[in-house]
Amino acid sequence: MRIRTILGWVLIFFGAMWLIKNNIVKIPDNVQRTYQNGVSKMSAGLDSIIDSNWNFNQNKTSQKMSASEQVTPPESIVKNKNLSRKYYYSYQDGTTDTVRNVFEQAIATYNATGIVKIVPGESQGWLNHLELGTYQKNVPNNQSRTIELGIGGPKIMEQTGIVSRIANHASAKLNVYYNKAISQAVATHEIGHALGLDHSTDEASVMYPLDRGQVKLSQADIDGLKAIYGETK
Ligand SMILES: [Zn+2]
Repeated sequence: MRIRTILGWVLIFFGAMWLIKNNIVKIPDNVQRTYQNGVSKMSAGLDSIIDSNWNFNQNKTSQKMSASEQVTPPESIVKNKNLSRKYYYSYQDGTTDTVRNVFEQAIATYNATGIVKIVPGESQGWLNHLELGTYQKNVPNNQSRTIELGIGGPKIMEQTGIVSRIANHASAKLNVYYNKAISQAVATHEIGHALGLDHSTDEASVMYPLDRGQVKLSQADIDGLKAIYGETK
């Protein structure tokens, strides 16, 4: 009895789909648009995601504002922190030349802004430091329909009191489980996180969370860096 009821509904459903498909039953325009949006969002989900600290709901709420008008936002932990614009960077042991090469290109991009200055050197106490390297993590495709290409972020060390000090001991890593992670775009995105930039909903931003091969900082990215480090002196 129950199986027969379900079968009935299934038949009704496919019957309705057939009528819609053949334009016998017209869907109002706005309903059709919603349906099409849903489809394009799903195909975006099939892309390679640069890293995992992204959720699509976050995207939905901020989409109302024109993406190009937004300054790339700072990660909340660097907000209102008086960080020095100078960074020393070093590589994890075993980082290959190919990986170093893409990181070097990304570093050159940030240095060209004149807002930050990233130079080779080891971590020294209360100075900003950026650790670069790789890791391997297999994210099963059937779970999220996306793959993780890297990870990066700031780590704020702070001392308040008679002497107040602050430093960012940041890191940026490429997930070399996937060959496509060894790219200038992924390195630029992860160093962006390390320097304190959060995700952007603008596809022209290097901080857009899906891999679009973006290696050039947008004006909004540059403005985002200025918001954290101040104008060049
Ligand atoms: Zn990211």
